[in-house]
Amino acid sequence: MSRQLFVTTALPYANGPFHVGHVMEYIQADTWVRFQRMRGAEVNFVCADDAHGAPIMIAAEKAGLTPQQFVANIAAGRKPYLDGFHIAFDNWSSTDAPENHELAREIYRALRKNELIDVREVEQFFDPEKGMFLPDRFIKGTCPNCGTPDQYGDNCESCGAVYAPTELKNPYSALSGATPVLKTSEHFFFRLSDPRCVEFLESWTQDGRLQPEVANKVKEWFKRDDTGKAGLGDWDISREAPYFGIEIPDAPGKYFYVWLDAPVGYLASLKNLFSKTGADFDAYLARPDLEQVHFIGKDIVTFHTLFWPAMLHFSGKHQADGTYVPRKTPDKVFVHGFLTVNNGEKMSKSRGTGISPLKYLELGLNAEWLRYYLAAKLSSRVEDIDFNPDDFTARVNSDLVGKYINIASRAAGFLAKRFANQLSGDLGVEGRVLLDGLRAHADAIAELYEEREFAKALREVMALADRVNGYVDQNKPWELAKQAGMDAALHDVCSVCIEAFRLLTLYLKPVLPALAVQVEAFLQIEPLQWADSARALGHHRIAPYTHLMQRVDPKLLDALFEPPPEPVIELPPPGGEAIAPPISADEFFKVDLRIALIVKAEAVEGSTKLLRLTLDVGEGKPRNVFSGIAANYKPEQLTGKLTVMVANLAPRKMKFGLSEGMVLAASDADEQASTGVYVLEPFPGAVPGMRVR
Ligand SMILES: [Zn+2]
Repeated sequence: MSRQLFVTTALPYANGPFHVGHVMEYIQADTWVRFQRMRGAEVNFVCADDAHGAPIMIAAEKAGLTPQQFVANIAAGRKPYLDGFHIAFDNWSSTDAPENHELAREIYRALRKNELIDVREVEQFFDPEKGMFLPDRFIKGTCPNCGTPDQYGDNCESCGAVYAPTELKNPYSALSGATPVLKTSEHFFFRLSDPRCVEFLESWTQDGRLQPEVANKVKEWFKRDDTGKAGLGDWDISREAPYFGIEIPDAPGKYFYVWLDAPVGYLASLKNLFSKTGADFDAYLARPDLEQVHFIGKDIVTFHTLFWPAMLHFSGKHQADGTYVPRKTPDKVFVHGFLTVNNGEKMSKSRGTGISPLKYLELGLNAEWLRYYLAAKLSSRVEDIDFNPDDFTARVNSDLVGKYINIASRAAGFLAKRFANQLSGDLGVEGRVLLDGLRAHADAIAELYEEREFAKALREVMALADRVNGYVDQNKPWELAKQAGMDAALHDVCSVCIEAFRLLTLYLKPVLPALAVQVEAFLQIEPLQWADSARALGHHRIAPYTHLMQRVDPKLLDALFEPPPEPVIELPPPGGEAIAPPISADEFFKVDLRIALIVKAEAVEGSTKLLRLTLDVGEGKPRNVFSGIAANYKPEQLTGKLTVMVANLAPRKMKFGLSEGMVLAASDADEQASTGVYVLEPFPGAVPGMRVR
C-alpha cells in the first residue's frame, strides 16, 4: 500500500501578492511532497486563499470593489508565482468557496451540539457613522502611556505600550474619523477552557506530532494557576455585520471570525479537489493510514496547535450506538522560521519587503537557484534563515553548477565525439566502486528529506559530487583522449560520470524538478523515482548534451536588490492648501449647490473688490449676491453665463446690501497670487436651479 498524505501550506491572506516568505514555505512543502511522490506516496497537496475578515472588506471598499471581486483579483495573480517557482499544488481554492461555508457551519453546529459554544455580552467600540464595530486596527487615538497621538487601538508605535482600545485617549475611527461609542453585542465563544478541551490538547500537543521546541513552547500555555485551573482562555469566534465572512447558523448578522474558517479551508480545498476528481472526501479522511500534514510559519502556531485540533476533535459524530467518532486531527504540524534578507528585515505575513519574488522571475533569475539556495539552508527546526546574495552566488555557482552540472558537461563532449553518445556497459572496477558508494547513500539522503533536513541532504549530495569530481581529476579523461589505445578507459570514465550524474540528479530532484526533467530528456530515461537509485543505465544511448544551467550573474542579483527608492520629497500641498479633514457624505449634502444664471453683473460703487451679481436659481425671483471677483472679471464677461452657487448659505448683511448666497470660484490658497481666481461654469445643458452634488 502506498503511503497516503494530505499536505497543506498555510493559507495566504488575500489582501496582497505573495512575498518571498510565502514562496519559501511553498518551496519547503513542495520539495517534501515531491520527495514523497518519488518514494511512491499518494499525496494531495492543496492550498487556498484566506479570503475573509475586516481588512479585506475595508481594502475592497477602498478599491471600489466587492470583497469577492477584490479577492478574485488577488487570486488571479497567484499563478505566475506558483508556476514560476515550480510549486505543484494539486488544488488552489478559496475560504469563500461553497465547500468552506458548508464545512465551517457543519463544524460549528457539531461544536454547539457538544456544548462547547457560549454566548456572551461583549462591550466594544462602534463607529456610529460607518454603522459597524471596529477591529482594534481601525481605532486610533492618543497613547494612554506616552501621549503620542494617532496610535493604533492595540499598541503604541512610539513607546511600545500595549493596551485595550478602550484605554486610548480621544479615540477615533480610522474609517470615518468619527468618535467611536461603546456598544454591547452578543459574541459567540469557543470554550477552549472546557476541561475536555484542555485534557485533549495537553496530550495532543505532547505526543510527538510537534517539533520538540514547538511542543515545549505550547506547554507553557497550559500552566496552571493556584486553583489548578489550566491557562487556556475561551476564544471569541464571532464578528458583527458588516463583515466579509461566513454567517453563523441561527445567528443572523453574526459572522465567523476569519480565523475560525481559515483552517477549515484546508479541508474545503481538499473537498473542492475531490469534487473534480470524483474521490470520496469522507472515506479519504476516515482512512486510518492517512497522514494529515500542515506546513506553517512560527507566527500562527497557536491557531494550529490549540484551536484547530480542538475544533476538529470535538466536531465529530455521535453514532446511533452512543459512541463518539472525532474528526481527524493533523498528524504533523511542521513549523518553520522567517526568512530574513541580509540579516535584516523580517519577512512575516504582514511585512513583505526585501526581495520581490515576481521581480526575481522577471529579471530572468532561475527559479531553481532560489529553490536550491533555500533548501540548502532549511532544517527541521524553527529557525529563521537569511538570504545573503554573496552566499547565494557562491552556492549556486560553485556547488550547483561547479560541482554537479559540470560532471555531465565534462563527460558529454567525449561521449558525443568518440562514442556516438553510447554508454559503456562495463565502467571498470574503480567506477563501479564509486557508483556503489553513491547508491549506498540513497536511504540516508531519503531519511534526511523525510525529516525536512534539506540542508543536510544537500550537503551529503555535494559531498558525493566531490567524490565524483575527484574520480574525474584522477582519471583525467582529457588526457586519456589524447593517448592512443585508451579509448575503452575514456569510454568507461565518461560513462561513470553520466551514471553518477543520473544518481545525483535523482537525489536533487525534489529540489530541482525542472532541471531533472531536462536531465531525463538528456539521459533518455523515464521520470526518476527514488527506487531508480538501485538501478544502472548500463549499455544505453543518451541524447546530445545541451547546456543545463547558467551560473548566477551577480549583476542580476544587484538589480534584484536595487536600493529602496529615494525618500519621497515633500511636495507643497495642492493649491497651496492641505486637503481638509474628511467629512461624511451627509455632511457634504448639507451644502445645497445650485446652477445659477448670472442675469446681470455690475460694478459696486465704493468697492474695487466686489461685483454685484443678480442670479436666477429657478426660484421665480432673483437673488442678489456680492462676489469678490472685481479684480478678475469685468461685468460684461459674466453677464449671461451659468455658474454654481451655494444656495442655502445664510444671507449676510454687507455694507452695500444683503448677499443671498455665494458663487463658487477656484483659486490658490493665496487669492492674491498671480494664478488668479476662476468662476465655475457648468458643461452645456445645465439649467438654472439644478442641484449640484
Ligand atoms: Zn505611547
